[in-house]
Amino acid sequence: MKRKLYLIFLLLLTACAAPTKNVSPPAATPTEILPIPSQTHQNDLFDANNIILAAPECNSGLTSSQTEGPYYKSGSPERNSLYEAGMPGKRLLVVGYVLDQNCQPIPGAWLDFWQADANGSYDNAGYTLRGHQYADAQGRYFLETVFPGEYPGRTQHIHVKVQPPNGNILTSQLYFPNEPGNSSDGIFDSALLVKLEDRGDYFVAYFNFVTQK
Ligand code: FE
Repeated sequence: MKRKLYLIFLLLLTACAAPTKNVSPPAATPTEILPIPSQTHQNDLFDANNIILAAPECNSGLTSSQTEGPYYKSGSPERNSLYEAGMPGKRLLVVGYVLDQNCQPIPGAWLDFWQADANGSYDNAGYTLRGHQYADAQGRYFLETVFPGEYPGRTQHIHVKVQPPNGNILTSQLYFPNEPGNSSDGIFDSALLVKLEDRGDYFVAYFNFVTQK
């Protein structure tokens, strides 16, 4: 009898300890970031500049496309820095993720940047302030440049093309907050505003591209 009671007690104890329902591990969220791979060139750039990207959010949907404008030139050199010694203009780092429609990073995405210099002029003869790069294994890009200047009819902007491996090209432009020219620029789109961090001597601009993979 005593043994029977003990067994019943054990059974009750097991039942209480068991989960009341099946709890499966949390599903991967859309903001999940790919595992950090071995050290890459891009990691060095992010570490060296104390840049840690926030977990991506894709609440605003796909990045809107914009006109290419008249100054695109194919064949830009591959580089993370468009900055050259003595170049006028405030130094600027532009960083972020390239993400797909499910908010997943797109490693190896091609990004081609081109912009006016601080005086609002494009280099149409050469490749000054033009360059392409590929998103790293975490889908991040890193661009060192200077603030572009205004030119007639346009507020400050940086042109960009983004293409996932074997995907379609997104052509767009990035804008800067609190620029007086934004309100009078017919192409300006507030959804393409970067988030600016003032670091004294320079700024860091954050922007995530979200494009169809
Ligand atoms: Fe332009």
